[in-house]
Amino acid sequence: MDFDLTPEQEQIRKLARDFCDAEVAPGARDLDRTEAFPEELLPRLFEVGFLSAAIPQEYGGMGLDFLSYGLVVEELGRADASIRSLVSVNVSLVSSILLNWGREEQKRAWLPRLSTEGLGAFGLTEPDHGSDPSAMETSARRDGDEWVLNGSKMWITNGSRGILTVVFAQTQPGSGARGITAFLVPQDIPGYEGRAIHGKLGLRAGDTAAITLTDVRVPDAARVAEVGDGMKIALSALDNGRFSLAAGCTGISQACLDASVGYAAEREQFGKTIAHHQLIQELISDTFLDLEASRALYWKVAWKHQKGERHTIESSVAKTFCSEAAVRNADRAVQVHGGYGYSDEYPVGRYLRDARVTTLYEGTSQIQRLLLGRHLTGVSAFV
Ligand SMILES: Cc1cc2nc3c(=O)[nH]c(=O)nc-3n(C[C@H](O)[C@H](O)[C@H](O)COP(=O)(O)OP(=O)(O)OC[C@H]3O[C@@H](n4cnc5c(N)ncnc54)[C@H](O)[C@@H]3O)c2cc1C
Repeated sequence: MDFDLTPEQEQIRKLARDFCDAEVAPGARDLDRTEAFPEELLPRLFEVGFLSAAIPQEYGGMGLDFLSYGLVVEELGRADASIRSLVSVNVSLVSSILLNWGREEQKRAWLPRLSTEGLGAFGLTEPDHGSDPSAMETSARRDGDEWVLNGSKMWITNGSRGILTVVFAQTQPGSGARGITAFLVPQDIPGYEGRAIHGKLGLRAGDTAAITLTDVRVPDAARVAEVGDGMKIALSALDNGRFSLAAGCTGISQACLDASVGYAAEREQFGKTIAHHQLIQELISDTFLDLEASRALYWKVAWKHQKGERHTIESSVAKTFCSEAAVRNADRAVQVHGGYGYSDEYPVGRYLRDARVTTLYEGTSQIQRLLLGRHLTGVSAFV
């Protein structure tokens, strides 16, 4: 594996870094404070191409290689994890489903729109079914050339401010995971209601929605792949989503390191800057250790992806480690900042609140360990 970036990858990282420093990071505190959706930033994210970073150019995207996409996501994570999250879902979950599973007409209909116009959402989780989506209750019933969808989804990123939701629904009651099918559901269709969830601990600028589907009718042409393929589709998308999440968490860890080093060089206690105190150096060094390991792990996923190999395990390892490292690092950064870290005068409190969700979504840390445990022992301990 080559750790040197190509000139093009260096260039894209610089573009992302400059953009994030100039246009994303400066507004992050206010968006967090006011729980405001980034109305003004969204068109800029489309313009600069980050919302279509890994979508091929023939479908209106930026056509970046996987590592370049990861570098963009890392920079977004460093600047504002709320913004990173909406980009990751649009690109890694929704667009990747269309690219890998969609029919040509579905790709042509939706990918250019997701690259320029509006956000996509991934509707798997339900109020009563999170870690075990195979038990989902949302149903899709065939009626002639149409499907009729009923049910509810919970915690859906981009679910009320987007244009499309990939809805997973049970089409063969009683058959569990094997009966789940994916549908492309426009968010402006009659019977679709997305309500923004407020009061979140973090990712407060992101749109997280509770969705109700009441007799939503979509044509059979909105079905993705075959009836019963839904769980395979969701899991393969999560291989990409977990990569993006790992890259974003690496960005949070980098932000924690930068903030801690900067503060340690300024803040004086006992007659010298706190950087002189060995225990502060320990906090900063441990942050760096976790950061370096995080970056190596998500780069490894990109390396496998670019060779055309499956990376379910590598994505799971990177997701688990990078998310837990981001939580540890954000906690260390608050510690380095002392009492000032506890107010939003400094960004480290937001890093901690934003990092906290990353060990929960796209498979909790417990679920990741069950996946890895099954891989290592051959024994499934899920139920
Ligand atoms: C901000 C945010 C954004 C999100 N975005 C999306 C999205 O875009 N699309 C989407 O579909 N979902 C999304 N989610 C949902 C997220 O993926 C779920 O919250 C997550 O999968 C966990 O499900 P749950 O919350 O129902 O927890 P539960 O499944 O109820 O888990 C509760 C606890 O039990 C543990 N647990 C469960 N089963 C086991 C087991 N077998 N062994 C050991 N421990 C177990 C879990 O690890 C956890 O600690 C989002 C969530 C949040 C908070």
